[in-house]
Amino acid sequence: MTSLAERLSAIDAGIADAARRAGRDAGGITRIVVTKFHPASLVRELHGLGVREVGENRQQELSAKAGELADLDDLRWHFIGQAQTKKAGAIRRAAAAVHSVDRDRLADALDRAAVDDTRLDVLLQINLTEDPGRGGVAPADLERLAEYVLALPTLKLRGVMAVAPLDEDPAAAFARVHDFSLRLRAVAPDADWISAGMTGDYAEAIAAGATHLRIGSAITGPRPAQG
Ligand SMILES: *Cc1c(COP(=O)(O)O)cnc(C)c1O
Repeated sequence: MTSLAERLSAIDAGIADAARRAGRDAGGITRIVVTKFHPASLVRELHGLGVREVGENRQQELSAKAGELADLDDLRWHFIGQAQTKKAGAIRRAAAAVHSVDRDRLADALDRAAVDDTRLDVLLQINLTEDPGRGGVAPADLERLAEYVLALPTLKLRGVMAVAPLDEDPAAAFARVHDFSLRLRAVAPDADWISAGMTGDYAEAIAAGATHLRIGSAITGPRPAQG
């Protein structure tokens, strides 16, 4: 068994290596540790190892852990899962960034849930599959949704997010994501984040320009048994 610290540094070495091969500066890449299914105590341990960016994909789990770890005030929570509109307020209260905005109503609900002047970082999730149930906006609707989000005063449009489909070569999938990022930047020049790459495909994502990696199991270890 390796320790959490060893797994974290192995991934960081892997990120540095992939960046070097891609001719990129690893300093421009943010590694988000996805802590879903793991207890708040593990997030606290990660914080002790210097991790500040963490990700969750379910609102209840996000809210519970963010509440339990409220004393760690430099921790930034990224919400990366499919979001129900009625959970937007709870998500906004806990998260610094929402990667999974894929429709007007969700963007509206996140905007309306603002409690102060802080703008919420949002990314547009793009569905790379033909299955509308997978979450994400259809590529054809990207610019339209971007214009919609740009008009909401309390959201800050940061970029695009995608999950590579299981049945597609990740390099090809992430090349498409890079094209979507260029399309987004044509209407929102500052929105240059690309959230892509997980445990199995982060090197391909780095090669295709990812700025934010969402890495879970390679760092946290296998999911604990669900009770
Ligand atoms: C769980 C999850 C990840 C991390 O997946 P790993 O394969 O464990 O690295 C990344 N993105 C999303 C949207 C996830 O739900």
